[in-house]
Amino acid sequence: MDHRARRTTRRIEGWPAAPGVASGPLMRLAAAAAVARKGGSTAGERQALADALDASRLDLAALVGEMKNEEAQAILSFQIALLEDENLAAPAFALIADGEAADRAWIAGIDPEIAGYEQAVDPYFRARASDLRDLRDRVLRHLAGEVDQAVPAGVIVLADDMPPSVFLATDWRDGGLVLRRGSPSSHVAILARSRGVPMMVGGDVEGLEAGVDAVLDGDAGALIVDPDPVLRAEYDQRLAEKSQARQALASFDGPVLTASGEPVRLMINVTGLAELRDIDPSKVDGIGLMRTEFLFHGRESLPTEDEQYQIYRQMAEWAAGKPVTIRTLDAGGDKPVAGLTQAGEINPFLGVRGVRLSLERLDVFRLQLRALARAAVIGHLKVMIPMVTVPEELDRCRALFRDAVEELRGEGIEAAMPPLGMMVEVPAAALAIEDFDADFFSIGSNDLIQYVMAASRDEPQLADLARPSRAIFHLIGHVVRHADRCGREASLCGDLAGDPSQVAALLDQGLRSLSVAPGALAPVRAAIARYPGRPA
Ligand code: PEP
Ligand code: MG
Repeated sequence: MDHRARRTTRRIEGWPAAPGVASGPLMRLAAAAAVARKGGSTAGERQALADALDASRLDLAALVGEMKNEEAQAILSFQIALLEDENLAAPAFALIADGEAADRAWIAGIDPEIAGYEQAVDPYFRARASDLRDLRDRVLRHLAGEVDQAVPAGVIVLADDMPPSVFLATDWRDGGLVLRRGSPSSHVAILARSRGVPMMVGGDVEGLEAGVDAVLDGDAGALIVDPDPVLRAEYDQRLAEKSQARQALASFDGPVLTASGEPVRLMINVTGLAELRDIDPSKVDGIGLMRTEFLFHGRESLPTEDEQYQIYRQMAEWAAGKPVTIRTLDAGGDKPVAGLTQAGEINPFLGVRGVRLSLERLDVFRLQLRALARAAVIGHLKVMIPMVTVPEELDRCRALFRDAVEELRGEGIEAAMPPLGMMVEVPAAALAIEDFDADFFSIGSNDLIQYVMAASRDEPQLADLARPSRAIFHLIGHVVRHADRCGREASLCGDLAGDPSQVAALLDQGLRSLSVAPGALAPVRAAIARYPGRPA
């Protein structure tokens, strides 16, 4: 009897961390080896630890060199900086001096540090605990003389946690990732989303056998182990549709049109230059949302004016005259930035985030505005402000922008005032949209939904509530009608725009401009092409 026939399909629920579907055998990634060193002389153990630290630094430096993605480089550079800080290994060296073996001393020295990060109130610092665990395990592997475990392409990796450096060194083609620990706002999850690697976190994956066939549904946050033929066919179909859609996009030429021939502007959402590498600018209508807060993540110091300018400039050059919509820093909420966002807020989503933080931290905001004003000279740059709630916030931003332009010109530096728009993601702004002097409007459905529905965008238990409802479409329609009346552009850049099943409802509200994750371009284009026109 075929023992496979006796297996039953198991569905393990977790939290979605990065969308997409992966199908393949499960592979368990082992944590670093348990302590096995015998321990030698004090001098020998001291040397062993120093060598392991050096070897780890060399590994990381080599990895940084291979990375094209600045987010990835920043994460690895952060780890190198930690290694270069003598304070990190000082407790371990002190324990070695007291007779401890190098590996035990290293663990005993660094674990309290990791625990400190894990218990931090600020989710940013909690997420950084995995960077430290990454470093701990890398050094331990060197002390144990191990080599990194290779991950073949096309497998679904199960691990307790995954160090960012291991994620970055892995070939994720056709693969997926399930982490028992971690959160959707961890660095690995951010990287998985930007690289299109399906991922879920949490879930009872203990005891699953390696090699067993599985499907990872990153959209639903579910791992289907040993899928029955019906489920398998359903997921195979989804995978096939995705790959057909990718091919369709590659072969596409010409404007995006509805079935009745109405043009729709279809743009992309990005977090940095890396995502632009694989996208032909002639296939999209520009960048509808560049989330600049990701330029501020995983680094020791905030990016300088010139660093930011170089990135914005390259985006404008990539777009070759098409619009590039850069959103000013939206730190806070689920996207804390160390040294910038306020620690210990009771409710960070209703706290000092987005424009509220920028107007508190004028030192940081002014630098960003200067970088943007310089880049506005090149190409078709547009700037938008997140979390605008009252008109005065936008007015203050406009005045600060004008000051930045004047200041630069006074210094003999070329600068321009780009169109200044606003995200419409706070219900108060959507309801009173007529009061805002914005050059364009971009609806942030992710936040709009959570604020209108009073359901956190990060709470899996409320997923059924944190969905577009009649109230949401009503507000979207209200904003679009206002924009149409005053001849300004209204677009939508939240995840709702990337859901092909919602496209018709959005077009029904009069929207003719959408901005989606690059992976959603093809299915959304197809959904637009099926749209027959607005009901009479
Ligand atoms: C939104 O809120 O819909 C949006 C696009 O912004 P973010 O997801 O970055 O908050
Ligand atoms: Mg938002």
